[in-house]
Amino acid sequence: MVAWLKSILKSVIEFIFPPACPVCGTPVSIHGELCADCWTAINWIDGPHCCRCGFPFASHFEFENMPMCPVCAAGKSELDWIRCACVYDDASRNLMLPFKHCGKINYSGFMSRAMIWALRDMDLSTVDIVMPVPLANKRLCFRGYNQATLLARPIANAINVKMDVDSVRRKYRDNMGHMNARARSENIHGVFEVIKSENVRGKRILLVDDVMTTGATFSELRRALVRAGAESVYGVTFCRVARCA
Ligand SMILES: [Zn+2]
Ligand SMILES: [Zn+2]
Repeated sequence: MVAWLKSILKSVIEFIFPPACPVCGTPVSIHGELCADCWTAINWIDGPHCCRCGFPFASHFEFENMPMCPVCAAGKSELDWIRCACVYDDASRNLMLPFKHCGKINYSGFMSRAMIWALRDMDLSTVDIVMPVPLANKRLCFRGYNQATLLARPIANAINVKMDVDSVRRKYRDNMGHMNARARSENIHGVFEVIKSENVRGKRILLVDDVMTTGATFSELRRALVRAGAESVYGVTFCRVARCA
């Protein structure tokens, strides 16, 4: 389409549907962006954080160049690195629940942009594949979409690599919403099956999910991918539980 026609159409659409904050409806200048109030309510992880897993530290602490959280310092984190855009709290929960369970898929625009921002210091030239954490088919049929795929597609486009949604299958298990760390780890054990190992062998894979709670899902998926020959596994989520931050 010629540029002038595109620009006229854009103005007409913006006149009929003026840009509004997808969460509260306040007018904004660009389609899909949060308004200032919704933006500032989110606890963004923009201060010092663990160089490996991205765990946020209180900003008044003094840190050396590459600070590490106790878990990573003890060598207990499994992914090569993880980054998350914000902390899981009341404000981000108010976005996550409608996005995940009530069809508010238009939130994926600002959420994925925030995740790309969270990756700003990472060397993304080492990523070969972007892979959303798979959803069991039964859950996918019920929900109608995999929220992780909605977030992964713009990230794959932004870093110009392929998104892989068919190499790993997830078996159906109980919802982990109210489980403690140990129960989560037992419930997730053996849930992922790599069905196209030729796609992941020797690859460096960036996993994408909406929220990281204990990290059990990422760890289990990484184990399956490494068993199938993946070289490195990284992770990015919109928010993460960080009770001690
Ligand atoms: Zn708003
Ligand atoms: Zn860490």
